[in-house]
Amino acid sequence: MSQSKQYILAIDQGTTGSRALVVDSRGKTKGAGYVEIPQHYPKPGWVEHSPQDILHSVRTAITQAIRKSRISSNEIRAIGITNQRESTVLWNRKTGKPYHPVIVWQDRRTSGICEGLKKRGLEPLIREKTGLVLDPYFSGSKILWLMKQLPKLAQDAKRGQVAFGTMDTWLLWNMTGEHATDVTNASRTLLYNIQTREWDQRLCRIFSAHPSMLPRVQVSASHFGNTKKWHILPDGIPVMAMAGDQQAALYGQACYGRGEMKNTYGTGCFLMMNTGSVRVHSQQGLLTTLACDAFGKPVYAIEGAVFIGGALIQWLRDSMRWIRSAGESEQIAKSVSDSHGVTVIPAFTGLGAPYWNAEARGAILGLTRGVTSAHIVRASLESVALQVSDLVLAVKKELRFPIRFLKVDGGASNNNFLMQFQSDILGLRILRSHLTESTAWGIGKMAGVSLGIWKGPYVLDHLIRYQTFRPGLSRAKRKQMLHHWRRQIQRVLGP
Ligand code: ADP
Repeated sequence: MSQSKQYILAIDQGTTGSRALVVDSRGKTKGAGYVEIPQHYPKPGWVEHSPQDILHSVRTAITQAIRKSRISSNEIRAIGITNQRESTVLWNRKTGKPYHPVIVWQDRRTSGICEGLKKRGLEPLIREKTGLVLDPYFSGSKILWLMKQLPKLAQDAKRGQVAFGTMDTWLLWNMTGEHATDVTNASRTLLYNIQTREWDQRLCRIFSAHPSMLPRVQVSASHFGNTKKWHILPDGIPVMAMAGDQQAALYGQACYGRGEMKNTYGTGCFLMMNTGSVRVHSQQGLLTTLACDAFGKPVYAIEGAVFIGGALIQWLRDSMRWIRSAGESEQIAKSVSDSHGVTVIPAFTGLGAPYWNAEARGAILGLTRGVTSAHIVRASLESVALQVSDLVLAVKKELRFPIRFLKVDGGASNNNFLMQFQSDILGLRILRSHLTESTAWGIGKMAGVSLGIWKGPYVLDHLIRYQTFRPGLSRAKRKQMLHHWRRQIQRVLGP
């Protein structure tokens, strides 16, 4: 087969939708597909996906990507899978049928379970073993909830008939018949010991995860299985890489070495820094997790999440109707010279790092007679950047070496006002990648490196172009704005 006919299929199974890219042997995207997934909110605080919708959306996105790239599916040499992390599904090994809808990472139904475990004094143990905090966000409490709710499930689990998976595993099972995950996804379950790199028996007991339910754990760049009787794809294509979405984006942004960091501005914002062989025990509420080096081998990383990022702009558009499109927020923010003393705190579902306060709720503070919707739109964009600043400053406190710049990607990073304000408030250079799909591209790159098409990721990294935003605010003004933000945050923190 000639060099030019080697294609990689990259699948990004995200929270709002599934994306597929066909990447050619020079690292260029030849064609892409994207399909949204219906979101289900059966009760306040609950968020579900249909496991069949997940499969259907991936199949359709792949079909679109292959058609647009005008290649034959026989020319695909390898597959990479990246995914929304933590979202949980349990299915029957014999029938392949799920026992329930996917419980999505955003779902808060297990907050009572987490509180109960905290009261039993289990948080320090869990933090030490997993690097995570005891929060409904992760898979563990979701499994425990299902085990309690569905007696049939508990019986079947004892008989070894149940399989657990995050979305990578669910897809892999359906595409290849293998039951496996990678270290980065495993590190988000609350069941996996990131030091010893194995499923932890004590944690599995705490969360009622029977050992027979658990997938095999592999290094992210490795051979996970071959396609088998999966609709649109021929049999025998190897899945050569799997990683959680934030880890794939970190890899896509070429952050292979210690101290390299990226922030993704999507529905939420996710800041992740590669810390190499050093496991940071955060005092600032950041998570420790596993990510990948240049060859997809595990390294440590620290991570902080903002729950509501771009979602705030959606809310301005769909619920408040103050903007017609997300992009319009940029012009409206620039149409006023400041936010007129308004602070927006988008704590719709509590606050993540460094606050970790599940009870906090959103607020618009500082309203006076002269305030217009334009000021609130501007304050909203500022609040996205201010939340990210809280994360970056928390990372700074943990480390002894200086941070030189922040690489950014994700839908809302297209907003120039937001990026300039981010640079101003941090006093840091912001490098915006022109590759908006660094998550999908990252896993495609890893799959090619894993297969040996490319000797290393560096071969492709000259393709990434960055636009730089430079800080333009005085130190005194920056300090004053951050101080004001913190005071306002204190007003919404729950008991
Ligand atoms: P996800 O992968 O989480 O679905 P994306 O990276 O596709 O998210 O980004 C979509 C989010 O970014 C939406 O919440 C949207 O409101 C926001 N967004 C997209 N474009 C802009 C923009 N120009 N300015 C501000 N927010 C934006």
